[in-house]
Amino acid sequence: MKKKLVSTDFSGQMIMLGTGTSVGVPAIGCGCDVCQSSNPKNNRTRCSVILGLPEGNLLIDTPPDLREQLLRERIGLVHAVAYTHEHADHLYGLDDLRLFPFYVGHPIPIYSEPLVQKRIYSAFDYAFADRDDTHPGARPALTMLQIGLEPFDVLGSTVTPIRLRHGPHFDVLGFRVGSIAYCTDTNEIPDESWPLLEGLDVLIIDALRHTPHATHFSVDQAIEVARKTGAKQTYLTHICHELDHDIDDAKLPPGINLAYDGMRIPLT
Ligand SMILES: [Zn+2]
Ligand SMILES: [Zn+2]
Ligand SMILES: [Zn+2]
Repeated sequence: MKKKLVSTDFSGQMIMLGTGTSVGVPAIGCGCDVCQSSNPKNNRTRCSVILGLPEGNLLIDTPPDLREQLLRERIGLVHAVAYTHEHADHLYGLDDLRLFPFYVGHPIPIYSEPLVQKRIYSAFDYAFADRDDTHPGARPALTMLQIGLEPFDVLGSTVTPIRLRHGPHFDVLGFRVGSIAYCTDTNEIPDESWPLLEGLDVLIIDALRHTPHATHFSVDQAIEVARKTGAKQTYLTHICHELDHDIDDAKLPPGINLAYDGMRIPLT
């Protein structure tokens, strides 16, 4: 099918599609200064990033805000998806992938761990139902591919999964491509994962708020992680409404900044 698509060339870049915590910022019903702020950098949709790799666009996670994020950044194509974990704020925009199989002419490959696959099969059972479609595009056409901790090749790049702990009940994945690592939804980096965070140009790390949390790093903890890795530049993500972009960004040490929706980072 020949379609006129918007320009989607952002190869060599990572775009921060969403940098907000699970309820987003502003939080529904909240009258705090950050939620009522007119600074666009205090408007944080649910977490995801997209990477312009040599052979296409790799999306990490499909948050509920996915449609608006892709429209906002004028990204017309997603060629593959990798999942960090199965929490609702990272998964429930999956149905918005429905158009891309039309555009590329085949199902979209989805890379995830077994627990994520289980959640996808149950939450999106209609995508895998054993019956004839009533019309084309009635459901997302996906190819499920299982990953573990072994590096895998996708769209002309090698992606290295990084095991991260996300509170007492969840093990999740971060991903490293070249010298950039994306590590959201974590409050503990196990010993075996630290070597995978050496020699980074850019680290993107979870930092929910100033005070400690059961499943996310605080700002101080994230700074500690950034220092330990020696990353040249660190960006904090999965941010809640307790952080004001301009006020809190100015307080961070050199080489560490708050990420914001729409931020573009060169892939190195
Ligand atoms: Zn999350
Ligand atoms: Zn608020
Ligand atoms: Zn989570």
